[in-house]
Amino acid sequence: MPKPGELTFVAPRGAKPPRHLADLSPAERKEAVAELGEQPFRAKQLSNHYFGRMSNDPESWTDIPAASRGKLTEALLPELMSVVRHVSCDDDETRKTLWKLFDGTLVESVLMRYPDRVTMCISSQAGCGMNCPFCATGQAGLTRNLSTAEIVEQIAAGMRDLKSGSVAGGEARLSNVVFMGMGEPLANYNRVLSAIRRLTDPAPDGFGLSQRGITVSTVGLVPAMHRFADEGLSCRLALSLHAPDDELRDELVPVNTRWKVAEVLDAAWNYAEKSGRRVSIEYALIKDINDQAWRADLLGRLIKNQRVHVNLIPLNPTPGSKWTASRPEDEREFVRRLQAHGVPTTVRDTRGQEIDGACGQLAAAG
Ligand code: SAH
Repeated sequence: MPKPGELTFVAPRGAKPPRHLADLSPAERKEAVAELGEQPFRAKQLSNHYFGRMSNDPESWTDIPAASRGKLTEALLPELMSVVRHVSCDDDETRKTLWKLFDGTLVESVLMRYPDRVTMCISSQAGCGMNCPFCATGQAGLTRNLSTAEIVEQIAAGMRDLKSGSVAGGEARLSNVVFMGMGEPLANYNRVLSAIRRLTDPAPDGFGLSQRGITVSTVGLVPAMHRFADEGLSCRLALSLHAPDDELRDELVPVNTRWKVAEVLDAAWNYAEKSGRRVSIEYALIKDINDQAWRADLLGRLIKNQRVHVNLIPLNPTPGSKWTASRPEDEREFVRRLQAHGVPTTVRDTRGQEIDGACGQLAAAG
C-alpha cells in the first residue's frame, strides 16, 4: 500500500482510477474474482482481510495461496493513493493528510480526536464545482469526481492508523465520518452512495460503521436530496444554508439561483421525516454579511418547529478574502435569537485552523 512519495507515474488526463475491491458490491467482488479464474469464495476472504480485519498487507493473508494472493492483489487492490504528508495541530488531536491520487490529483482528509469519539472529514471530489465565494475549494473549480474506492480508502487508511496506534493518542476506533472535505458529495451521487454502503455494511462486506455516525453535507442540490431521502438510510444530512434570504444566498451559495431557500428547506424537511434524523443547518458567520440580528430572526422563523439543529461556523477566511468572521457580540446575539425561536443552536469549534485543515481550506495550499 502507499508509502510517501511512491507514486511517480502520472496518468493521462481523463484516465479512470484503477478498479479496487472497495468499488465493488459483494456480488461484484465474486464476479471479479471468478473472472480472474479464482474460486468465488476468495472474494469473501479478501473482504474479510480488507474490511473485516482492516489489513492492507497481503503478505499476512495466509489463508489464500501465495500465487492467488499475488494475482488478486494486483487486480483488486491496486495502490490508489499515497500520503504526501500528515500535518498535526490542536495538541496532535487533529491530523490532516494530503493525498496524491494515481493521476497526481491532490485531495485531503482530516482526522479529529475528541474525548468521546473520533471523526474523519473526507473529500468526495477533487476540487468542487459549486463556486461558493467564501470557500477555498470552490475557488479552484472541479478537477474530477473521486471513485468509490478513493473515498473509502481515505477512511480505511485512517481506521488502520487508529487500529495500529500510529495516530497520536494511541489506539482508537473511528466513530464518525463527515463528507465535509473537498467537493459536493451529492454531485458525485452514485459513488458517494456506494462509499456509504462500504462504510456501513456489516463486516466483512463493509466496515460496519453506524449510519447514524455519517453526515453528508450539501449545498442543496434538491433533486439529489430527494433521492437521498428515498435511500432509507439513517445518515445525517447537513445543509449549507449560510443565508435565510434568496438575495444573499444567491451570492454566497450560487446554486441557490437554481434551487431557492424555500425549496431547499422543503427538501431538508423531507429528508428529516424519511430518515428520522434532525437535519443540521450549516451557517458560516461572516462579519456584516449574513450575521445581522434580523437575519437570525428570519432564519429562526423559517426553521422553528422543524427537526433541525443549527451549526454556526465562524468564517475561516480564505487567503485574499475580503470577508472575515463575525464579531463575538454579533455571534452571541445570533445564537441568542435562534434559541429564542426554540431552535437548537451550537457554534462549531474550529479545529485544524493553523494547518489549513478547517472548513473550506483543504488542499488549496497544496
Ligand atoms: N460541498 C458541501 C461539503 C463541503 S464544505 C457543502 O457545501 O456542504 C463543508 C462545510 O464547510 C460547508 O457548510 C461549507 O459551506 C463550509 N465552509 C466552506 N468554506 C468555509 C469557510 N471558509 N469558513 C467556514 N465554513 C466554510
